Amino acid sequence: MQKHDIIIVGAGTAGCLAGMASAEHSSKVLMLDCKDFKEIGKKVCGDAIGAHHFKNVKLKTPPNNVVRSKFNAIVVCSPSGKHVYKVEGEGYALNRYEFGRWLLDQALDKGVELKPNTKVTSPIIEKDRVVGVRALNNKTGEVQSFSCKVVIDASGWTGAIRRALPEFPGLVKEPEWADFDICYREIRKLRNSVNDPGLAKIYVDARIAPGGYWWFFPQGEDLVNIGIGVQGGRGNDPKNLFRENLSNLPILKDSEVIDAGGGVVPTRRSLHSIVAFGAIFAGDSGFTANPISGGGIGPSMIAGKIAGNVAAQSLNEEDPKKTLWKANKEYVKAYGMKAASLEIFKIFLQELSNDDLEFGMEKKLITEADLTRLSNGKNLSIKEKAVRIIRGLRRPSVLMHLAATASYMRKVKKLYENYPDEEGYEDWSKSVYDLFSDFKRKIKPN
Ligand SMILES: Cc1cc2nc3c(=O)[nH]c(=O)nc-3n(C[C@H](O)[C@H](O)[C@H](O)COP(=O)(O)OP(=O)(O)OC[C@H]3O[C@@H](n4cnc5c(N)ncnc54)[C@H](O)[C@@H]3O)c2cc1C
Repeated sequence: MQKHDIIIVGAGTAGCLAGMASAEHSSKVLMLDCKDFKEIGKKVCGDAIGAHHFKNVKLKTPPNNVVRSKFNAIVVCSPSGKHVYKVEGEGYALNRYEFGRWLLDQALDKGVELKPNTKVTSPIIEKDRVVGVRALNNKTGEVQSFSCKVVIDASGWTGAIRRALPEFPGLVKEPEWADFDICYREIRKLRNSVNDPGLAKIYVDARIAPGGYWWFFPQGEDLVNIGIGVQGGRGNDPKNLFRENLSNLPILKDSEVIDAGGGVVPTRRSLHSIVAFGAIFAGDSGFTANPISGGGIGPSMIAGKIAGNVAAQSLNEEDPKKTLWKANKEYVKAYGMKAASLEIFKIFLQELSNDDLEFGMEKKLITEADLTRLSNGKNLSIKEKAVRIIRGLRRPSVLMHLAATASYMRKVKKLYENYPDEEGYEDWSKSVYDLFSDFKRKIKPN
């Protein structure tokens, strides 16, 4: 059995940030990834990220080979395309592979030991504590065991450790498909230039992308990342929807497919506790992506960094369990609270028809200011109530649901502001479930 202080399962975004943070304090950090060394960093993705995420985790500005182009705003378009909301802000269209390699290099430079071709199959648990992992060497077929003091599960949405743990309150081992967006995307080289390469466009359309959206993210003047994400569990195939609805768009005429592929991203609130049995879950394995946009790169960097720091701090503590719990408090403050309240808004959005969406955007039942507030982690303000009531008179049910949404977002935020110590956690977790069930009963048709 090989011994380490910290084992990180997965060398994606969350894993690399966890590696960088923990290797600052410990020389025995091991990162395992099932991929071959050269494949690490590859990820089917929309490749878009807000520049603020790099500042949040104190990473330097990504170098030129990592950034294909820059955005200055995101535009959300109504199903007809007639009504648009613009949220200003700097962002990057990444070369996703180079981005992954850039993070990996930084983790390795800090002294993280990497074992590629190593697929983690299960945790080793002793006395209710994860004390290592079992793995299979993809090349040799050898079964290996690695022991450590703390395991960080950064293995992406499949959650190699998460799904193999015993029951724990709020630990969703196998989420329902409805809690995922199933995506298909292509990177295309265009024949003609895009009009405005600085605009990342998102189209909400319940017909083309049921329960999700489709996107058009330029990566310069003549390259685009275009894709569809649909809510899982509804029987829709995003690849078919892409073929039927997007591949004939005039802008794609005579374009060349550079890369194509599908992927899955969790779009629910993060695990109520990103710590269980002495393991920490960071990135998609802890469901840290933004529930509305599926934007998971930024939150997985935040979660990875927190996980790595806290894991390292716990190494010399008499009561490591107590120290690990700090990861929950830090994460909830940094992103978890925002994500939970955004899940409420997502549930509201997923119930809207195209007519509702068109109407709501035309009448500005939700304003651009609301969107900016939401993207900054603030709740819907629903000010100018009277004005909105008059605007929304023709659709009273949408208006009522919107009011309920704003109210539940506030309630969720309040619960998360009082995130408990371990002793009060089980009751708190139940209150969160109750609040979400209550909201779903209010908003979903019987
Ligand atoms: C189609 C699509 C579009 C997206 N678009 C965007 C976007 O535009 N912007 C954005 O911010 N986010 C986007 N996301 C989400 C974002 O890509 C993810 O949230 C983010 O990459 C999660 O990082 P991670 O490190 O948690 O997981 P991953 O990047 O999935 O990394 C997990 C790593 O663990 C390894 N691994 C898995 N299982 C095992 C195992 N058993 N043993 C060892 N290693 C293992 C994998 O090989 C991989 O290297 C998108 C996702 C999809 C699918």
